[in-house]
Amino acid sequence: MFSLRRNKDWKNWAGTVYNRPEALLYPKSLSDVVSIVKTCKAQNKKLRVIGAGHSFTPLAASSEVLISLDHLSGIVDVDDAHHRVTVWGGTRLSRLGQLLYDKGYAMENLGDINVQSIAGAISTGTHGTGVTFGSLSTQVSKLTIVTPNGDVINVSATENSGVFQAGRLSLGMLGIIVKVELAVVTSYMLDAESYRLELSDCLDNLDELRHSNRNFEFFWFPHTHTVQVKVMNAQMSSLSTPSKTTPNLSGLLVENGAFWALSELCRAMPSFSKTVSHVSAKAVPTGQSSGMSHDMYATPRLVKFTEMEYSVRAEQMADVIEDIQRVINQNNFNVHFPIECRYVKKDDIWLSPAYERDAAYIAVHMYKGMDYQPYFDAIEEVFRHYDGRPHWGKMHTMSAQQLYDTYLKLEAFMDVRKKLDPNGMLLNGYLREMFGL
Ligand SMILES: Cc1cc2nc3c(=O)[nH]c(=O)nc-3n(C[C@H](O)[C@H](O)[C@H](O)COP(=O)(O)OP(=O)(O)OC[C@H]3O[C@@H](n4cnc5c(N)ncnc54)[C@H](O)[C@@H]3O)c2cc1C
Repeated sequence: MFSLRRNKDWKNWAGTVYNRPEALLYPKSLSDVVSIVKTCKAQNKKLRVIGAGHSFTPLAASSEVLISLDHLSGIVDVDDAHHRVTVWGGTRLSRLGQLLYDKGYAMENLGDINVQSIAGAISTGTHGTGVTFGSLSTQVSKLTIVTPNGDVINVSATENSGVFQAGRLSLGMLGIIVKVELAVVTSYMLDAESYRLELSDCLDNLDELRHSNRNFEFFWFPHTHTVQVKVMNAQMSSLSTPSKTTPNLSGLLVENGAFWALSELCRAMPSFSKTVSHVSAKAVPTGQSSGMSHDMYATPRLVKFTEMEYSVRAEQMADVIEDIQRVINQNNFNVHFPIECRYVKKDDIWLSPAYERDAAYIAVHMYKGMDYQPYFDAIEEVFRHYDGRPHWGKMHTMSAQQLYDTYLKLEAFMDVRKKLDPNGMLLNGYLREMFGL
């Protein structure tokens, strides 16, 4: 039977969401999940499910019942004929990478950390970078969901296909995702490289950089003319002969302890931010490293921050960055975190920020404890000017109407939601307000 913690405080990674649910439940089987949902239904309790708590917003918050699938982790089934692997929804990406590797497989792409749960990651459209890759949600071929009614349904392109289009990115609003079937690829090695470039050279050469590298991203340091470029390419010769990862030399300054000390200084003296940005730009690590893919995408995040990220049309990356640069300079914002710029291939997932448009994703950060609102507000205006779509797991202030205007399938999504959850069991205050429900 499932374990239970009463009045257990829960907070997200960034420390921006604190929560004390009446009960925090840890089901140990599919039937545990079903009985929790049925009990909540009978007692008219609100229910939310948490992954690793790495969303910056109160998406997963609940004052009544919270459930965690931490005890539902690991591989359920491997379909070698179709290169598909079914895993429990609570499986953390770091564990998943190793488990897949042990079976000779890997995910085709990943984001910049690997501590999320697979269900949580796909539920907000977590993405990496690379013009030929969609978000993690696009790697999903089937889901097993416990609906708010307590039914267990499979959804895929051929089974309950309407729910599939909605369910691959569903913010925990359609049901509890207990199993995820992923389309996987044969395990592979990546060569990574990090180097410094002038911002103008980077923006002038974006076409070349993004199309000639498997994974390309860049970080622009505000108040400077410097970017860090990070690229990764498949090591063709070693696709089937995996070897050990060499030390990752392509890391970011933001990944190490010195950056924490500098950030503390900025918090105490915000005007120091510009100097720190210059120092960080000069300290960009240059070098190469290589290793198995699951060891290469993710890097530790030792410094806590708040983040906002939007997607715009891929071809607008340079214009948006130039506008952001203008806004930061005009407002003289005290910001020392680099701006992270990535590319994602378009998809057909209803709530995806890359829905039917190849996307540039641009993320701004502020150190924990520093005032992010004026900065984020000003940059959000730039994103909106370009018909930007917010990343669901990150900060934004879009109204329901604005969301309906830019997420063209939001209404279709809400129709599916209403059918599955007519009494709003899975809604919390944040979702109600955001979507005007
Ligand atoms: C340091 C850091 C780095 C990040 N890097 C990236 C990045 O590179 N790319 C990117 O796109 N995002 C990134 N993110 C954002 C992060 O990937 C997303 O917010 C992701 O959703 C977090 O996954 P989680 O397991 O923590 O889910 P949570 O934040 O716990 O939950 C997210 C949503 O998923 C729902 N959910 C969780 N489990 C289930 C389930 N079993 N069934 C149904 N719904 C469920 C929750 O209800 C909630 O709505 C980063 C965040 C941080 C803090």
